[in-house]
Amino acid sequence: MSKQLYLDFGQKSFGPMKCKSCGMLYTKGELEDEELHKKFHNKLIDGVQFSGWKNERVVGWFDEGRVVMVTPSDSKQHLKKVDEVLGLVHYDLGIEQDVKYGDLSKIFLFISSHKKVIGCVVADHIDKAYRAMTDPSSGLTCCSTEPYTSVKVGIRKLWVSKSCRRKGIATKLLDCVRSNFAFGTVIARNLIAFSDPTVEGREFAKSYTKDQLLIYQ
Ligand SMILES: [Zn+2]
Repeated sequence: MSKQLYLDFGQKSFGPMKCKSCGMLYTKGELEDEELHKKFHNKLIDGVQFSGWKNERVVGWFDEGRVVMVTPSDSKQHLKKVDEVLGLVHYDLGIEQDVKYGDLSKIFLFISSHKKVIGCVVADHIDKAYRAMTDPSSGLTCCSTEPYTSVKVGIRKLWVSKSCRRKGIATKLLDCVRSNFAFGTVIARNLIAFSDPTVEGREFAKSYTKDQLLIYQ
């Protein structure tokens, strides 16, 4: 321990280093860089700061916080926050280029009691999806050729901040989507499709729908 301390004393590390938790490259010892990293790191791990809006469309209350629904025709202030969250979501899910949401999409934000956005869903209006099937010979997942047209909503993005995963946040978000996406009806669990889910997302989707996995593009 003391030897290590002695060796490190006064040493300066050069060149950028990569944070193991958030993946950001930054230069240690450069204040501006360290500050930028700290901000980004906290957002990604703990969620995006959110102080609340006067006219929020709250669609769910839970022990961990509330769920707010945003539509593309909402105020610029609201959409700016959605953009900030989605920028982070894209980075975290490794999405390089994608339309953030469509004209008929609805965005659901999970706001923690600590005033942070810790989860987000972008739900699309869709009318067809395809059943995911496992190819018996290769074991790979493929899709049915016949479209499934009873589908009611598509989940384009589903994200929960790193520190809040495995706490049921994603389930609560999807429950809010099912009861608020279409006016006056609650969409059944097996009528939700998912767009290009990650392996983790695929497992979650299967357990949530308790049935078939529907995929759309
Ligand atoms: Zn970091």
